[in-house]
Amino acid sequence: MSQTAQTRQPVPSADAPTPLLAVDEIEVIYDAAILAVAGVSLHVGEGECVALLGANGAGKSTTLKAVSGLVQADRARVSRGQIHYAGAAVTGVAPHQLARQGIVHVLEGRHVFPQLTVEENLRAGGFLRAPGRRALAASLERIYTWLPRLKTKRHTRAGLTSGGEQQMLALGRALMTQPRLVLLDEPSMGLAPILVEEIFEIIAQLNRQEGISFLVAEQNLRVALRHAHRAYVLANGRVVEQGEAKALAARDDIHSFYLGGVLPEQRQSSTS
Ligand code: ATP
Repeated sequence: MSQTAQTRQPVPSADAPTPLLAVDEIEVIYDAAILAVAGVSLHVGEGECVALLGANGAGKSTTLKAVSGLVQADRARVSRGQIHYAGAAVTGVAPHQLARQGIVHVLEGRHVFPQLTVEENLRAGGFLRAPGRRALAASLERIYTWLPRLKTKRHTRAGLTSGGEQQMLALGRALMTQPRLVLLDEPSMGLAPILVEEIFEIIAQLNRQEGISFLVAEQNLRVALRHAHRAYVLANGRVVEQGEAKALAARDDIHSFYLGGVLPEQRQSSTS
């Protein structure tokens, strides 16, 4: 375990009356028929790093897409509940409008423009705020400070970089929008453990030093709990556990949620 991860403390603003993001009892339905998320509530305080954990199909990606507005692109909609961001109701607001307000969504699977160079991909992220040349150059340098691997590959076509570099590029392009809240979907997917560790260290540093808030969907609960302040565990579209990351990481039974999404009450009745 890294020193920085060991010393992370919960941010006091987690309990503030108005969190940066508040998701209240949302239900998401695909194709007007498939209930993927069934009453999920969660919050992210300003400056917090929160993990959203769960197995395949638990509803993590759908929850993130509900927040960023991208559910609409998947023929889905938030059919019940409310989402508030920075105190305002944003349920159903279009993704580009939310992006302007500081919410950026890094999709699962490292979506980069393969034919463009690393730097061109980053510039594409910067255009949201229509900066002048000098501001754009300053933003690029800032990203290269955080993600130095990208600087060494700046003139390489993105499609020719490694999986880890593409994940960093997807994150870097999101950072170019100068976000207040980053929704990050499974950054560990398909990466070697050492790269996963490196990416989570970068996320933790961005959170700590730049004050950027994160909601990170992950199946890799060990690494996510080590770097997050708090976490929610989803199973079958519902929150089945939540709490301080340290407390959840210390629990022996936390892995059982991944084995078919066993609910706490079901476990109790099966053992009694
Ligand atoms: P994974 O880690 O595999 O992405 P997840 O926890 O992110 O899993 P979701 O992708 O949100 O889970 O899926 C939740 C439920 O919604 C699943 O039952 C899934 O089959 C369904 N679902 C997801 N996307 C679609 C879609 N485009 N159309 C119909 N159903 C979908």
